[in-house]
Parts: sequence; C-alpha cells; structure tokens
Amino acid sequence: MGTHFSRSVAEGRAFMQLIDGRSVDSLSGERIDVLSPSDGRVFATIPAANAADVDLAVKAARRAFDEEPWSRMPAVERGRCLTRLFQLVEKNGEELAALESRDTGKPVRQGKADVTATMRYYEFYGGAADKIHGDTIPFLEGYTALTLREPHGVVVGITPWNYPLQILARVVGAALAMGNTLVIKPAEDASLTTLRIAELALEAGIPEGVFNVVTGYGRTAGAALSAHPLVDYVTFTGSPMTGTAIQQAAAVNNRGVTMELGGKSPQIVFADADIEAALPVLVNAIIQNGGQTCSAGSRILIEKPVYEQVAAALAERFSKLVAGPHDADLDIGPLINRAQRDRVAGFVQAAEEAGMPLLARGTVHADAPSGGFYHAPVLFGDVDPDAALAQDEVFGPVLALFPFADEAEAVRLANGTEFGLVAGVWTRDGARQHRVAKRVRAGQVFVNGYGAGGGIELPFGGFKKSGHGREKGFEALFDMSATKTIVFNHG
Ligand code: NAD
Repeated sequence: MGTHFSRSVAEGRAFMQLIDGRSVDSLSGERIDVLSPSDGRVFATIPAANAADVDLAVKAARRAFDEEPWSRMPAVERGRCLTRLFQLVEKNGEELAALESRDTGKPVRQGKADVTATMRYYEFYGGAADKIHGDTIPFLEGYTALTLREPHGVVVGITPWNYPLQILARVVGAALAMGNTLVIKPAEDASLTTLRIAELALEAGIPEGVFNVVTGYGRTAGAALSAHPLVDYVTFTGSPMTGTAIQQAAAVNNRGVTMELGGKSPQIVFADADIEAALPVLVNAIIQNGGQTCSAGSRILIEKPVYEQVAAALAERFSKLVAGPHDADLDIGPLINRAQRDRVAGFVQAAEEAGMPLLARGTVHADAPSGGFYHAPVLFGDVDPDAALAQDEVFGPVLALFPFADEAEAVRLANGTEFGLVAGVWTRDGARQHRVAKRVRAGQVFVNGYGAGGGIELPFGGFKKSGHGREKGFEALFDMSATKTIVFNHG
C-alpha cells in the first residue's frame, strides 16, 4: 500500500523558522514533534516559538515595512515577485504535495489539487497587484479629491492545519500584492509546507524581512502575535473560539482583523433537481479532506417526495467509502490528530445514543496502520435540527440529512444555525434558484453545484459566526489595504 516517496519525505528533519531572511531555531531551543496522521509516528520536528521569537519576527517585518522599498516599489514589481513564486511552486509541486500529504494525512491526490490551487493564488495575485487603484471624487469647486489604496503595514496571518498551502497562499498573495509585510504562524499540527513556501519566496526575490514565519503553539506564539503592539492587522482562519481570543487580543491595540471561521454549510435538494448530477457532488462536499474543510457540505436538506430516494442513494455510496493512509490515495485519509478523531467519534456516539438513524458507515482499510487517526465516513438520516450534529461543526466525515416540506421550511432550516459560510441549492426552477440563493445567509451560494473547484477568483467569507471580512478574489485586496483620501485646495 502506498508509494515510497510520500512516506519518507522530510524523514528525520529538524525544520527551522524563517525570520528576517534567516533560517533560525527558537530562542529557547524547544521543539515540537511532527506526527504523520497516517501512522501516528513522529517523523520531524519544528521550533516551538515563544513571545521572544515573535518579537524578533514582528520587528523584522516592521523594519522591512518602514525602511525597505517593498511597500513603495511599483506594484508591477511586487506582482512579478508573486509570479515568480507561482513558477517556483509549480517547479517544486511534487515535493510540496508530498510534504503536505504526509504532514496532514490528506490523500496525495488532494495534496496535488492543493498545489494546483496554490499556484493559481500566486498567479492571480501576481497579476492583480497593479490592477487595483483609487478614485477621484467630485468635490467642492477649487478642490481635487482622490483616494489611494495603502497597505496596512505589518500583517499577521494565523493559519489552520486543514489546507496549509492554500490558506497561506490566499493570505500571502493578497497581503504582499498590496505592499504589506508579513509574519505567519501556521498551525502546530501542519507547518512544514509554510516553511518551504517562505524559502521559495526568498528565492522568488521577495526581500528579507517581508515574509517571516514563526512556528509554535497558539496559546504562546499565536497569542503573542495577535497582541503585539507593532502589528497593524491580523488575519485568522480557524475555529470561532480561537477567533474570539484573537479579536480580543487585537482589540487591546485597536487593530483590524479578518476572520475566516467555521461553517455548518447546507445543500438544499428540491424534488425537481437533477439528482444523478447532485449525488457525487453531495458526497464529495463532505468527504473531501476527511470533512476537515470549513466549507464542508455537512447538512443536506431534502424535499420530502425525494427524501427516501436520495437517502438510499447516499447510503449506498457511503457504505463503499474507504479511509486509509495518505499515500494509498483512497476516498479519505486519516484525520489530523487523535483529539480530532476522538471529537468526531464523540459526535457519532451522541447521535446514535439519541436514536438518530445511522444510515451507512464506510470502512477503514484493513492494512491502515493501527497508530493512524482514522474515522470511517458516517451518514445519519432524519437528524433533529436542534441536535449537536445539526448545529455544531464536526469537522469530520459525518453527513446529516434533514427532510423538508416546502421552500419556506428549507430556507428556515438552512439559516437555522449560528454559521453562514457556504450553501448549495439544487433545483431546475430558475425563479426558485434566485429566490433561495438570495434568502440563504451564506457568503457563497452555489446553484446546481458546490465548491466549484476552489474558485480562487471568488470572494469568500462568512456571515454570522462564520466570520467577517473577505478573502480570495479581487475583494481580498481591499481587506489587505486601507483607503487614504487626499484633498488638494487649488484656491
Ligand atoms: P484553531 O482555531 O485551533 O487553530 C488555528 C490557528 O490558531 C493555529 O495556528 C493555532 O495555533 C492558532 N491558535 C490557537 N489558539 C490561539 C490563540 N489563543 N491565539 C492565537 N492563535 C491561536 O483551529 P484549527 O483546529 O487549526 O482548525 C479547525 C477550525 O478552523 C474549524 O473550526 C474550521 O471550521 C476552521 N476553519 C475555517 C476556515 C475558513 O476559511 N473559514 C478554514 C479552515 C478552518
């Protein structure tokens, strides 16, 4: 089972942080073990940064912003650096995919798809850097008023473990295109590709100090970063609870934040939908990356006349799904760590104890290493809309089905959680497509599809507890900059 390269990549390596263009250990010398989720074995280590390391990295980014030409260089030049980074990601794509798969446990196929999306981010923001501009505004007689888009300054990016390469790329691409400098703290469970991208960024000509990476735990390195007084803006992707802590820390200095938090995203299947077309998309939306996707389609609302038919077809597909090691490239890989696997198992157990019908369960491959963090995909039918399984983000391969009677009930159920990240609407009725897409409170709504292959160009972000601010697409460039108004008096 599996390929040699992706099971041995980075074996035994002691990774270093990147601060001010230099490869450095943590000042304390403390390290964090890196486990492969596929077998639970330690295969590398990363530095455990604390507040002193954070201070060095923030001061490097501050100096690079205040003293280096980065923020003042022609936007086209910054764009060219990002375009070179795009080319270097492409050149090193195989290594990056293998590293990402081993570090996170995601199937190699998914690691490759992540590299492709990562390339697109750097390509997109490389090209966008010189396409954003301010306005001239009609004002009083004798005056000229204009606006400039200016970088915030030092931006901190705190990223999660589920899509390290992709989430890093959308932060780095937009922040650097606008002339900010960066300190990134990747998740302690999956930091390796972030460190590799920072090296490639130097090779691409991004000056020393512009793109720094500290590795370490959230409660130490992450907390110190979000409260640092020399930081101008914080962008965070992760859990709502951590988002609250980071916003409180950033509020001490009254700094701006972008928050990409979780989801409990619904897909609504009306009786007139093309069900055959919908089925593979409905399954993929929850098993991709083992369900550890903020935009996972974790709830399916099905109109009553087709409920039994859709539930039976999904059950048939779920019972055939197989989990296994990343390099076996099966339907899903292991979950990121033991705690996450146990958390998912807890949701499944609670739902079973509450009497919710478990319609199907996939399997874990017999040859999967016993130390790995596997959880088979699970399908529940007739889920109580108030149950934890209907309301809380599971972040695992667990799908919940809900019958509905009419459009009004579908919209009520879709909006009936604290989240509002993504939604899917499946119907052939054009007027209903528009009505429902407008009424569902979600940052992205897909009609007769879901996810659309990453959609680097599409603004992305949440309503309600799913967060605020927008990443991806052109809109992220506004989040990563501030408007300055200049008024000339000719009088
Ligand atoms: P998490 O919130 O535990 O950790 C995310 C990052 O925050 C990590 O780098 C972590 O070290 C850091 N962190 C933890 N505590 C911190 C603190 N007190 N101060 C500063 N930083 C701290 O989330 P996770 O477990 O890595 O990811 C899973 C969650 O993230 C899920 O809820 C998922 O929905 C969400 N998520 C959202 C998106 C999105 O775009 N909306 C994308 C991916 C994941």
